[in-house]
Amino acid sequence: MSTPPNIAETITLETLAAMASDKRKELGQFLATGALYTPFAFTEETKSLDSLPETIELYCGGTCGREQTFERSERTRGSNYSDRGWGRTVNYQCRNCKKRSQIYMYVWNESFWKVGQIPELPEGIDPKLKKALGDSLQLYRKAVRSRSFGFGIGAVSYLRRIIEDKTDELMDLLRDEKWELWAAADRQEYDNARTTYQYSQKIEYAAEKILPSSAFANGRDSFKALHDVTSSGLHGKTEEECITLFDHCNLIFTRTFQMLYEHKREREEFAAQLLALKR
Ligand SMILES: [Zn+2]
Repeated sequence: MSTPPNIAETITLETLAAMASDKRKELGQFLATGALYTPFAFTEETKSLDSLPETIELYCGGTCGREQTFERSERTRGSNYSDRGWGRTVNYQCRNCKKRSQIYMYVWNESFWKVGQIPELPEGIDPKLKKALGDSLQLYRKAVRSRSFGFGIGAVSYLRRIIEDKTDELMDLLRDEKWELWAAADRQEYDNARTTYQYSQKIEYAAEKILPSSAFANGRDSFKALHDVTSSGLHGKTEEECITLFDHCNLIFTRTFQMLYEHKREREEFAAQLLALKR
């Protein structure tokens, strides 16, 4: 009777190659969005990886103005080439416009660390979000900057402040839009929300009343993250945990405020047209 094969032996070369390829992709994502001075770790199966991905996905802040594939632009690699080392640089260029480049400086020994990047900040603040943020844009930039330097606690603090400022605007918008249509119970609910709800609950309450429910199909976790950011849920979290938290609520935050801004703008345009008709 033959003995069952050792588990380690069942990992074929193909499997290892597939694992390395997945890890390289993950490394590409880390290059594009990971924080500086934060280690990217390898598993036992992927620790011998020694080449960076040929392409990464980045927002192109040039004429493209959207996410594009960026390609490594230096071509000096021989057969024994390794990307590992201390204080090395890698340059990626937008494949579409061939104008924008992103350079990273890194250390790659057991783990991988980004230690510098030019341009310094991801440029991908959506123009619509910029408009929607209005006066809060400067705070938002600081949040993104803190995040890219690995200061997760700082990043969520800035985001928290913007959420607090914007929530009041959101509640006003809801009141303007619905008050006349509401029955006494709805008005009571609104007053209750305004005075007793936490910020994240107010956002969820108001956004659900104004925006289509499809907008929040996958938003539950993000609202939970928003809640943590705007309540005591933040205490005791590490920088890394805060970065994860920031990323989670950044998504719903961006989506909600963009949509609300659009909604508000459409409403104002409609009101202006109506007013013009009456003249
Ligand atoms: Zn481009």
